Amino acid sequence: MIRFFERGLFAPFLLSIQPILHLFSINLTELNVSEIVRSSLISLLLVSLVLGTMYLVLRDWRKASLVASLFIFLFFLFGDVSVWTSEAFGLGPARADVLVLAVVAGCMLTWIWLITRRIKNIAAVNLYFNLLAVLFFIGSGIQISRYILENGLAFPVRQSVQAAVIESTESRPDIYYIVLDGYGRQDILQALYEFDNSAFLEGLADRGFYVADESSSNYIQTMLSLGSTFNLDYLQSLQADGAKLENRGNLIDLLENNNVRAILAQNGYQLISFHNEYKATISSAEIYYNDSARGIASPVSAFESIVVDHTMARVLSYLPVFRRALIEMPYDTHRDHILFAFSRLQEVPAMDGSYFVYAHIIAPHPPFVFDEGGDVVPHDEPFTLNDANYYMREHSQKSYFAGYRRQIQYVNTRVLETVDAILAHSQTPPIIILQGDHGPGAYLHWGSLEDTLPAERFGILNAYYFPDQDYSLLYPGISPVNTFRVLLNQYFDGNYALLPDRYYYSSWSFPFDFIEVTDLSLP
Ligand SMILES: [Zn+2]
Repeated sequence: MIRFFERGLFAPFLLSIQPILHLFSINLTELNVSEIVRSSLISLLLVSLVLGTMYLVLRDWRKASLVASLFIFLFFLFGDVSVWTSEAFGLGPARADVLVLAVVAGCMLTWIWLITRRIKNIAAVNLYFNLLAVLFFIGSGIQISRYILENGLAFPVRQSVQAAVIESTESRPDIYYIVLDGYGRQDILQALYEFDNSAFLEGLADRGFYVADESSSNYIQTMLSLGSTFNLDYLQSLQADGAKLENRGNLIDLLENNNVRAILAQNGYQLISFHNEYKATISSAEIYYNDSARGIASPVSAFESIVVDHTMARVLSYLPVFRRALIEMPYDTHRDHILFAFSRLQEVPAMDGSYFVYAHIIAPHPPFVFDEGGDVVPHDEPFTLNDANYYMREHSQKSYFAGYRRQIQYVNTRVLETVDAILAHSQTPPIIILQGDHGPGAYLHWGSLEDTLPAERFGILNAYYFPDQDYSLLYPGISPVNTFRVLLNQYFDGNYALLPDRYYYSSWSFPFDFIEVTDLSLP
């Protein structure tokens, strides 16, 4: 066993994978396992190259392995050390990178000198490196497996859903449920964002929409809100009725196998959904549009961009060509997802059959990637979908307001264009619902209700187009939990009593510890 550790050359390889597993484990809720494959392969390739080169120089595999091990270790430490250096010494990021680069070069030269001239017992040192690498690796493995044990693997599972069979009426309008993530309510945007959205709302009214202008979401997180809306009930009631709701993975199941989908399926509807980088799309939909390139040649993902930012490779982003690939590409992908959903939505009316179309569009939610005219807003930091106080770690509240105002205007343009196309080309007049899953998050704290202004996060856009324009069942304060109750009652002979509209805050860490919020007034 000792000989195995003395002779083995596995330290550099394990050290090249472990930091990626670690980054993956702290971002697990957002990611699919496949996201780590390409970064791991590239990391293994890099370490092989270093190992091979050092062997050619030193003519000794164990010495080469020791050099490669320290190199890859420092390579992955680079980002954190550089950020720390920048903050501790008040240096600009570029200067901090150069300084840390110099320190790394010094360390490596000293290490090579020690290995070739000083250290006699190379086998013993190799043993320590191998042992340490194995321990690191096991540590990350335990972290990930513990998470998976607690949260389950977030793969969509097809389950049969219990639902009442409702006789359908003769005409079958397509149903468009368009969720505009983080889309806030007019009076809130006016008061807190100094943004007047009345032109857009009048545009909807002109087209025959009903705007519920006192509406608030029932929950403040995407998956909680959608899980409830799609299942016609509060999560607490679903839980009391036996739904397994213990972790975020369960919320994905709840969404994939939701009640509205099941009821509409019994009425001959097929579900259409669109891929994006968040797990709130329904990937088991009968028609699931995924235009993004997959496999090894797909664009740099957000996760990969974050990995690169943690490594020495971040200095490459000073070169324009690498900057494009490493920082900007994930933003491009994000923009493409948004534009793709809007353009695909316009193609649905031409399709034969009855469709329940669910588009989850991650806008106006941050990151703010479009200006008011749809032009690209550039970014310097790696891509994330961070909102609220997580967003404020790297940005100011002022930049949130400004970015949100610009992005929402472009969203408005695309929404009206899409609505016009759908209305113009639908043979049977459709049902269209435009809804925020929650409001914006400049005054939201993920960990504390006391530090949150509920009015902002709960107030949402909630607009309906019904083919007969009979809006007698709707009312200004209708919340999403009642959205599909009304729809099923009005168009599918449903008999769902409307629920009282209630509002629940829960923190990011404890999504199911609900606190009812009763005061949604502005300060
Ligand atoms: Zn959301």
